[in-house]
This record gives sequence, structure tokens and C-alpha cells, in this order.
Amino acid sequence: MSNHLIVVGAGIVGLANAWEAARKGWRVTVVERDSMARGASVRNFGMFSPICQPPGRSLELALSSRDRWLEITAEAGLWNNPGGKAFLALQEDEMQVMLEFSQMDFANAYEASFLSASEMQDCCPVARKDKVLGGLFLATEMNIDPRQAISVIPNWLGDAFRVEFYFDTPVIKTNTGEVVLANGNRLGADLVIVCSGTDTGYLYPGLLEEQGVQRCKLQMMRTVQQATDFSMGPMVAGGMSMGHYKPFSACPSLPALMARYQSEEPELVRYGIHAMASQSSGGELVMGDSHLYDDEITPFDIEVIDLCIINRLREMIDVPDWTIAERWHGMYMKHPEKTHLILPVNESTYVISATGGTGMTLAFGVAQACWNSGSFESDIGGRLL
Ligand SMILES: Cc1cc2nc3c(=O)[nH]c(=O)nc-3n(C[C@H](O)[C@H](O)[C@H](O)COP(=O)(O)OP(=O)(O)OC[C@H]3O[C@@H](n4cnc5c(N)ncnc54)[C@H](O)[C@@H]3O)c2cc1C
Repeated sequence: MSNHLIVVGAGIVGLANAWEAARKGWRVTVVERDSMARGASVRNFGMFSPICQPPGRSLELALSSRDRWLEITAEAGLWNNPGGKAFLALQEDEMQVMLEFSQMDFANAYEASFLSASEMQDCCPVARKDKVLGGLFLATEMNIDPRQAISVIPNWLGDAFRVEFYFDTPVIKTNTGEVVLANGNRLGADLVIVCSGTDTGYLYPGLLEEQGVQRCKLQMMRTVQQATDFSMGPMVAGGMSMGHYKPFSACPSLPALMARYQSEEPELVRYGIHAMASQSSGGELVMGDSHLYDDEITPFDIEVIDLCIINRLREMIDVPDWTIAERWHGMYMKHPEKTHLILPVNESTYVISATGGTGMTLAFGVAQACWNSGSFESDIGGRLL
């Protein structure tokens, strides 16, 4: 008889672990509270984004994740756009940081090219001719459609690997070797992996917070479907993202750029706004985002954040139709340093939390590393994370 794994949560972290375990011949059951996963994994951009990871182990995990995404998109028939991401510079100080990045010895790992204004036009035709001075193109970045992926992957795992899914089934407790469901039933397993995202505190109060993890809220929007002959090409990002992504911290001119934002555009800094956009499989533009933490988080969205994001994107790119069709927010758990935490809660149960805001990028790579090592003990938890 094969070993049995129960995964709690059908977001990307749960699905990644279900896939890796099933590949190893485990019998896998996924238990999801809702009728489909409705957390961060369907609320994000779908930016597979190695640039969020510093060179070294995290970047290696991201790149191995990329191989897994390419594999699953082919096998499960998912849409993807491996067309890279363009960082668009509107001012000379942004160009300078991008130039410095392109000259770093690690820039090749991100397949980074520094582009003049005309080169950027060729690479990213939506970049505004009258505004964009040039920028940085990163070829390893890839766009996926999170809504499609999170709804299709469970069916595919069921068909290809006989992974069993229980939807509408909240887990209220885990004991060694079993999970307890809200209806009172118990399911036994050799191993339980809890991938419950921002709701982990309901099962294990304080567990993530004791590690220094905070909640982070992001606002997002989506336009109506664009004309069928419109293609955005690569995903786009602006200068603010360089302050957020660790690899840029090596650039000597970054502090001066961030100081200018602080003095000229305090609202962007106050709300942690990035101006980023990707085009989804249906042709709509997905736009965001912002970052508010713990005590700053309310259930209500802030209109000025959406306006700042749209205004900045309108300076960067030409898009036929800016009509907003949907607005939403999402949340993730954020650790100041660690991209993932793997925490034992009893002899056979581990919590795996994506704590870098980059679970769509890293989940497959982290799951693969854990399952290839054959252990969730501190050997992996300690070294990887
Ligand atoms: C707005 C936004 C934009 C982002 N953009 C990107 C991006 O472009 N690229 C990138 O790499 N990352 C991005 N991220 C981060 C990424 O989305 C997350 O890191 C990732 O989705 C986390 O996945 P997860 O499976 O841990 O959590 P979730 O997707 O939240 O899944 C957790 C699941 O567990 C279920 N659950 C919870 N408690 C229970 C219980 N007791 N019983 C049963 N089920 C339970 C929930 O219903 C949920 O379906 C973004 C995040 C947000 C919010």
C-alpha cells in the first residue's frame, strides 16, 4: 500500500505539494474549505517572476519552478505567455538603476537586457513613445492565468494522478496522523501538509506571527476584454518595483531613486504602490498593486490607491480600453526575509506557508525540493528557508 498524504488547502502551495507527492507514488487527498480555492492563488497577477528572488538558492528554486510550470501548462493544457517582463523607465534616475542592474555579474541569471527607447518600442510596443526612455527587459519572467490554473489543475491531478479532492470541506483540527473535518469526520494519513495561506492562524493561533510574519493586503483591478487584435506583449512594471525586489538592492543609485519617490510621490510610497500590468488569457489587463500590512489593513479598499496605479500605468503604456471591469483585494503572509516557512506542528503534520508574496513563482520549486529530499525535517526546513 502506498503512503497517504492529506493536503489542506487547494491554493498553489497545496496543489504543488499534491503534484510532487503523487509523482512519487503517494496516494494524495486534498481537502479545501471552499467550493474552489478563493485565496491569494486566484487573486494574483499570475506573474511568474524570478526577479523577486535574490541570486542564490531562492533564484534556483524559482527557475526549477519555471520548468514545472512549463511542464504543467503543456500537460494540463493551461494558457501561458513566456514573453518576459519589461521594466519601463519614465525618468533618467530609473534608467540609471536599470543600467546598473544590467551590469551586475548576476544579471544573466535573469536574462536581463538594458534597452534604449527604440529598442524598448520593438520589445514592448505598448510602451508610450512620448514618455518611456527605455528600460530593462527580463526574459525569464512568464505570465500565467491564475484563475484558469487554479481551476484546471485539480481536475488534471485527479485524471492524471488520481489525486482525490474534497471541496466545501473545512478542516478544524489536525492530530498526529489525522485531520478533523467540520462535519466531525476524521481522515487518517501518514503525512499531513497544511497549506492554508492567510487562514493558518485559525488552525494554529500565533504560529506564523511568532516567526515574524505579517499579513499584507494588495489591491488589484482588471479591465474589460481588450480588442482581439491587441496584445500587450511582455508584462510591464515601473520603477517603484525596483525598491521592492531584492536583486535591485545591489544597485548604487537605488537609494536616491527611492528618496525621490518619497519626496515627490509620497502616496506611492505610503501605500507601497507598484504599477504593474499583465494580460490574461481572455485578453483583459490585470493591474496592481499596493502593500498594506497588519494594523493598516481594513476590509475596505482605498480609491486613491486604484487611481495612483491607473494614472501611473497610463503614463507608461498605451492601452485601447482602460474601462475597469473588476476590482478586488488579496492577502498573503509576509516574512521580512524568508520566502517560505515549513513548520512542524506534530509528528506527522507540517505547515507550509509562502511568506515572500511570491508563491506563484516559488511553490513548485519549493515542493519539488522538499519531495526530492524525501524529508520535511529541519534538514529541509532549516536549510532552504
Ligand atoms: C493580489 C496578489 C498578487 C500577487 N501576485 C503574485 C504574482 O504575480 N506572482 C507570484 O509569484 N505571487 C503573487 N502573489 C502571491 C501568491 O499569490 C501567494 O504567495 C500564493 O498564492 C499563496 O498560495 P497558498 O496556496 O499558500 O494560499 P491560498 O491561495 O490562499 O490558498 C490557501 C487555501 O487554503 C484553504 N483553507 C484555509 N483554511 C482551510 C481549512 N481550515 N480547511 C480547508 N481549507 C482551508 C483556503 O480556502 C485556500 O483555498 C500575489 C498575491 C496577492 C494577494
